[in-house]
Amino acid sequence: MPLSASALATPEAISRYEPVIGLEVHVQLATATKIFCGCPTSFGAPPNTNVCPVCLGLPGALPVLSREAVELAIRASLALNCAVRPRSRFARKNYFYPDLPKGYQISQYDMPVCGPGELTIAIGGVEKKIGITRVHLEEDAGKLVHDQDADSLFDVNRCGTPLMEIVSEPDMRSPTEAYAYLMALKQILEYLGICDCNMEEGSLRCDANISLRPAGESKLGTKVELKNMNSFRSLEKALTYEVLRQADVLRSGGTIRQETYQWDPATNSSAPLRSKEDAHDYRYFPDPDLVPLVIDEPTIEALRAALPELPTARRSRFQARYGINAYSAEVLTAERPIADYFEETCTCFSDAATAANWIMGEVLHIVNDKKIAVTNLRVTPKRLAALLAEVTMGTISANSGKRVIELIEAEDKEPAAIIAEHGFVQVSDASFLEEAVGRAIEANPKEAERFKAGEKKLMGFFVGQAIKLTGGKGNPKEISNIIMKRMTEG
Ligand SMILES: [Zn+2]
Repeated sequence: MPLSASALATPEAISRYEPVIGLEVHVQLATATKIFCGCPTSFGAPPNTNVCPVCLGLPGALPVLSREAVELAIRASLALNCAVRPRSRFARKNYFYPDLPKGYQISQYDMPVCGPGELTIAIGGVEKKIGITRVHLEEDAGKLVHDQDADSLFDVNRCGTPLMEIVSEPDMRSPTEAYAYLMALKQILEYLGICDCNMEEGSLRCDANISLRPAGESKLGTKVELKNMNSFRSLEKALTYEVLRQADVLRSGGTIRQETYQWDPATNSSAPLRSKEDAHDYRYFPDPDLVPLVIDEPTIEALRAALPELPTARRSRFQARYGINAYSAEVLTAERPIADYFEETCTCFSDAATAANWIMGEVLHIVNDKKIAVTNLRVTPKRLAALLAEVTMGTISANSGKRVIELIEAEDKEPAAIIAEHGFVQVSDASFLEEAVGRAIEANPKEAERFKAGEKKLMGFFVGQAIKLTGGKGNPKEISNIIMKRMTEG
């Protein structure tokens, strides 16, 4: 039953019911090796080459837990204000599926490595704490390749890739809050460098639980699980769609069944996948091949001490230290490399507000336009700082500066070389500018009369005309001084 766009906009559906949303986020940890064996985790290797008896699930092979995976999970948990449990253990989650050679997945069940904790989100400046129930470690399954000419194919390479699952409390009350939570989580994980958080490539996967209840009711409604949201925007869209679908069912006197729905980004709609298993269907039991995981206090404190500055702290520091506004601080700290770029520019150029504006405007424009990482820009922070110094000194105009940035990126040269080679130097020579102003006034006698009669807003018009006559090289400040002199002299 596809819902129309107009149905999605029904405010009544939202006002009568309160959505209750919780997210389960799977994070692929950026370790060099798999979680229970020494096979590499490198992406894109030929099928079935990163394998050994352990991740193939051969009889008699024994798993050995990766210290690196545990440390990354602890780092993430500390950043999420989560308690790290001194003792946790691994469990077998039994289910039969062709992508799981052992017939069970090693996960954590009753004793996860970390939790509870909380993550603060902010919407329109209003903060809200979202509870985190638990953080646990598990191994990924393999990958089935369907729709081949012959049969389905199985690639074992992904078996045993370390995953960290972060389960939130059902604390979110709108799709917007869920989006903000996932973004805040992504930022922290990226700052920690433990995941590249690429939803399209599957290194960050998100499932949502969502139910509706009449506004004012405290009892929870029946929840539906949403899967297959492969981008941040599709999470928000899928949840919005589900809010309206459930509201529609409830309003017409129907009941919500506990089901799993799959989001289809192509049609912007979702459809039921299968009825949801309960935990007892998986017959969890402690994995006898792995000893309990014991984490001591000194290990936790050493990892805590090594945490980098996190996004929220960096935002506050940017405002305090560089005097930029909240919006700029938010944009500039959205990704760690952008924040680093800004700070590096500021070490060579003292006007932080100007640097912030140029980075948010021209620099990020190139990044988005060319889809390149800020770290791969040819307009390095040093080059940007040098260019901004030229603009500030008046060697070139701000408009030329924008053009120079594009040329630095295209030609991979220093700003000074681009400015000289392309003739961007502003001309402040008085007689040259006097002549241009004279010609601009002669060519526009009516406007000149009005200006003289007091219509001062025509200044911009005359500056523009005169600059055009200098081939764009005339210094606008000098030109405007000359115009003012001419016009008041009569
Ligand atoms: Zn292996």
